[in-house]
Amino acid sequence: MENQLVAHFDLDTFFVSCERLVDPTLNGKAVIVGGTRSRGVVSTCSYETRAFGVHSGMPMAQALRLCPQAIVLKGTSGLYGKYSKMVTDIMAAEAPVLEKASIDEFYLDVSGLEQNFGTYKWVCALADKVTNETGLPISFGLSTNKTMAKMATNAGKPNGRLYIPPDKVKAFLNPLPVSDIPMVGKSTCAKLNSLGIYKIKQLAEMSPEAVENIFGKYGKSLWRKANGVHYGKVAPYSERKSISVERTFFQNTYDIESLQTLIGQMCEKLAFQLRSEGKLASCVAVKIRYPDFSTYSQQVKIPVTNYDQIFAKHAKELLLKVYKKNEPLRLMGVRLSNLVKEGYQYDIFYDDPKLDELYGAIDSVKGKFGKASLQWLSSKADKEAVKKEKRFNLNRTDVNSDPDLIGRKNIKGKD
Ligand SMILES: [Mg+2]
Repeated sequence: MENQLVAHFDLDTFFVSCERLVDPTLNGKAVIVGGTRSRGVVSTCSYETRAFGVHSGMPMAQALRLCPQAIVLKGTSGLYGKYSKMVTDIMAAEAPVLEKASIDEFYLDVSGLEQNFGTYKWVCALADKVTNETGLPISFGLSTNKTMAKMATNAGKPNGRLYIPPDKVKAFLNPLPVSDIPMVGKSTCAKLNSLGIYKIKQLAEMSPEAVENIFGKYGKSLWRKANGVHYGKVAPYSERKSISVERTFFQNTYDIESLQTLIGQMCEKLAFQLRSEGKLASCVAVKIRYPDFSTYSQQVKIPVTNYDQIFAKHAKELLLKVYKKNEPLRLMGVRLSNLVKEGYQYDIFYDDPKLDELYGAIDSVKGKFGKASLQWLSSKADKEAVKKEKRFNLNRTDVNSDPDLIGRKNIKGKD
């Protein structure tokens, strides 16, 4: 562990950078990618908007008050996946041990490289390769562990390249605010500040027991991080196991018919993404959230497929099963999991050459004219069935609203 060296890579304003590759007129402009409705939040914003105080996670309405000239884009999920994969492939071909921490973040264990190469030079060359081959700007931090490497990246962004050798760790950390430690959120930060602790140096100089008394178990690792110590290992990269989409509603809704339509569209979007990545899925899950934030989900295993209508059929059935309260919904989502690569021998029942031909044609139109260019119309029978269910649901007494009585299983995901 002593001679460990970790590089952390983070693509700069990733979603915005991808959008700029597609539309170069966005270069140099204030651009925000995020939810465009009133409850939407900023998922990525260009540095031109950050000058006005905009940051990711901020409500869109607030961001637009601060930077009204910003160009707001809803986001293109297939696009980001495609570029993320390109970067992952470049990294995986070069790196000894690679961990993909998110769609745009990577950790590399580069310990031991220094005997043969200058590690910093090696990491610089990899960053250059990513930018030359994809057109995406990237920052990295290189230091003694994952937390230190990530903090170095954050300190250097954008286009940052910061190496913090072991003997400079303390000097780097000491003057920084405690909020710069990656695991320190708003509440931890407020608590530390209320105790008069603002700088990392102050936290580092406390006794570990004192920090543990305040924050419990978590205190120990917090204190270690303030001292530049983190034992977390770079976990080797494994491929994504699921894809999902969810929507927080502009207004809470219990219009089951439009929910059914929407869930069909969500499946369509995910299936298109699956096919564009050459994958199939064999598990469909639906998640719903009520205004009180209680969250329910149900899932079903199906023969592997990548057809919109099969996912949609199951998702609609699951929605009717899971939606039991006579209350509006705040959020709804679909997740496809148990992903396998195409070429896998899948169930003959769903392997219909005519359908394959049809989906091939659909995807080529979508590829040319955008994902919204073609959409399924729900069949009449489908709508009738939905109406029946709706009446049933609205008339029933609310006997099954206890979360423990319903197949409750939280799916990890953001609201
Ligand atoms: Mg990033």
